[in-house]
Amino acid sequence: MAVTPARTPLIAGNWKMNLDHLQAIAFVQKLAWSLKDADHDFATVEVAVFPPFTDLRSVQTLVAADKLPLAYGAQDVSEHDSGAYTGEISGAFLSQLECQYVIIGHSERRTLHGESDEVVAAKVAAALKHNLVPVICVGESAEDLELHGQAAVPVAQLRTALAGLGSAADIVVAYEPVWAIGSGQAATPDQAEQVALQLRAVIADSLGQDVAAKTRILYGGSVKSGNIAGFMREPNVDGALVGGASLDITEFSSIIRYQKHVGL
Ligand code: PEP
Repeated sequence: MAVTPARTPLIAGNWKMNLDHLQAIAFVQKLAWSLKDADHDFATVEVAVFPPFTDLRSVQTLVAADKLPLAYGAQDVSEHDSGAYTGEISGAFLSQLECQYVIIGHSERRTLHGESDEVVAAKVAAALKHNLVPVICVGESAEDLELHGQAAVPVAQLRTALAGLGSAADIVVAYEPVWAIGSGQAATPDQAEQVALQLRAVIADSLGQDVAAKTRILYGGSVKSGNIAGFMREPNVDGALVGGASLDITEFSSIIRYQKHVGL
């Protein structure tokens, strides 16, 4: 029998630096058709895509013109509103493009671009200021796992990211173990649940019980159609942030429709 989840699950596709604006239009159109053909109920499982910045205007135009029930967002945002910050993108610009979400603190930003927990916190505040829902990514490396166990680093990262936010903050948290991203080796559903539970406690501590109860915590790291069901059965895992598999329409649709093909 289907169990009604406490929060509306969110399946989010992080395209990373893949698909130009023309490919994005074709991809989003096909994804929407594929889900429509399958009678996907977007109110039951929300779907969001995170294209590169240069695709966002095209995706906005398509979503608006065809009234597609897909959400979209950017993969990063500047902590600043405007000014001499070459290469940066303001949250104000993303809001103008009707982005609902923005990914912040992805492990590739943290490791390849040296983003500290403090920069992540400033970006979270900037996103909220511009009415964007930050998808705050946290996760431990293989080395952290060995040295500190699984939850210590993501818990500390989230604590810093939420410091100073008001209790009305609308956020999504993505637990993404760095060792699981793109490796083909996902965490187990139980590992994801244990960390999600601790992350929810951090949210309760920082922003109050009400925000903790309504905040969606996603798992990310080598999610596929074959393993999504296990994660979605966990009470504190409310969806997935999907990298590689979100670029394959059949696979991504199948992940989104996990309730149908696994009988949840
Ligand atoms: C990601 O980059 O956020 C991610 C989870 O990647 P993948 O699904 O490819 O592991």
